[in-house]
Amino acid sequence: MGRIILSKVTKTFGDVEVIPPLDLKIEDGEFVVFVGPSGCGKSTLLRLIAGLEDVTSGEIEIDGTPATDLPPARRGLAMVFQSYALYPHMSVRKNIAFPLKMAKMDAAEQERRVLAAAKTLNLTDYLDRRPAQLSGGQRQRVAIGRAIVREPEAFLFDEPLSNLDAALRVNMRLEISELHQSLKTTMIYVTHDQVEAMTMADKIVVLRAGHIEQVGSPLELYRSPANLFVAGFIGSPK
Ligand code: ADP
Ligand code: MG
Repeated sequence: MGRIILSKVTKTFGDVEVIPPLDLKIEDGEFVVFVGPSGCGKSTLLRLIAGLEDVTSGEIEIDGTPATDLPPARRGLAMVFQSYALYPHMSVRKNIAFPLKMAKMDAAEQERRVLAAAKTLNLTDYLDRRPAQLSGGQRQRVAIGRAIVREPEAFLFDEPLSNLDAALRVNMRLEISELHQSLKTTMIYVTHDQVEAMTMADKIVVLRAGHIEQVGSPLELYRSPANLFVAGFIGSPK
């Protein structure tokens, strides 16, 4: 289960309200994209869901359980960071197993999960390499592997492809979509790239200055943008 409900969530930094009261419902198994210009609050919203930031007010519910005050490790979510967050001195195997080792999981179970993730991500032949011995795409897959082994209720991605070149971005976009189809786990994906949003999302959340301008499927947003901001951002002909 990966159902996430935000009710009247706000976030204030100093005296700046970066997220005004916001309501959002994410259904189990959905691929949801938060899209909007730089500085509109996408990362902040994702970090609030992950528990890496505390809400200023409002409630977060995950799988029917109040999660507003839970620490990140108890929310059942896995954040996928950009590939440069890998440990350079550790093998791929150790990088992927790292969160399991931190959780003091039994070694045999760690290995089972690492092998399963490596198989899913086509990394089986690279487990003994260091990140520097991998391509950019392989490194990004290792970063995803580190999330998969935790078997989370939902994956949270914050612009995971932004430091990859254009051709690789297209490839990884397809790989992440395929991963979603095979795992069927809720994914929340933050991007400022409307092409990523339109091609990957079941549901797009268009953000502007911390509030939601529109929520809908790519087709709904394209055909019936709520206003000129959405139309401009989605590139529809309105
Ligand atoms: P995005 O990810 O859409 O580019 P962010 O969520 O990073 O936007 O930032 C939204 C706004 O909140 C920006 O104005 C940013 O400067 C501000 N902000 C983000 N994090 C902090 C922080 N820790 N302290 C103060 N302001 C912050
Ligand atoms: Mg951001």
